[in-house]
Amino acid sequence: MGKFSAVLFDLDNTLLNFWEFKQEAGKAAAKAMAECGLPDKEENIYKRIFEVYDEYGVEYQKTFYRVVHSYGLETGQSERIQQAAIVAYLREKFRVLRPYPRVKEILRKIKKVAKIGIVTDAPRNKAWMRLVLSGLDSEFETVVTVDDTKVQKPHRAPFESALRRLRVDAKDVLFVGDNNDRDMVGAKNLGMKVCLAKYGEQLPRTRHVELDYEISDFGELLKIIEE
Ligand SMILES: [Mg+2]
Repeated sequence: MGKFSAVLFDLDNTLLNFWEFKQEAGKAAAKAMAECGLPDKEENIYKRIFEVYDEYGVEYQKTFYRVVHSYGLETGQSERIQQAAIVAYLREKFRVLRPYPRVKEILRKIKKVAKIGIVTDAPRNKAWMRLVLSGLDSEFETVVTVDDTKVQKPHRAPFESALRRLRVDAKDVLFVGDNNDRDMVGAKNLGMKVCLAKYGEQLPRTRHVELDYEISDFGELLKIIEE
């Protein structure tokens, strides 16, 4: 028996290079919009895309509509530019989105000593698309998405849902995530051990939490689990 009975993971920026994909796909969309005749410079369009993400969240589904709409073009022209943006975005997404180095190999080693699952704030369809795209869709015993509990981390509900599904006690679980305020605070509140994935960290830490482990590379996880 291993040191932990289960290891739970956040998905975006913990297992997958979500932020890199978001930036690259955003650039591709901005370029496509400028080329299609949106009357602005690529870098301004890119900025507007990220302003929409800041306001509505990165999972917002009408980002390009909002951006294009603000220029007040004729309907057909607007639609053409929006669709060009979506196509460019998706092409870039399919090209760029991938697991961090060695993720699959290391997950398979962890699976020999512990159950593994995901607790993500992404919508169910987006989470599964990202898992399929990155070739990780058959690795996990459970995947809890925001659609399952309707609340986001650090709320207890998504963590509890994963514990129930895996039939494990919080004290025997390690949670790995890049977001201090959501992943670390939430998992710690339930009594899990927590490991911050520093390589994926994008947001400032505004809440104090006693971290049990920090890793700057996914591979470092093996030592923690096997030690
Ligand atoms: Mg994350």
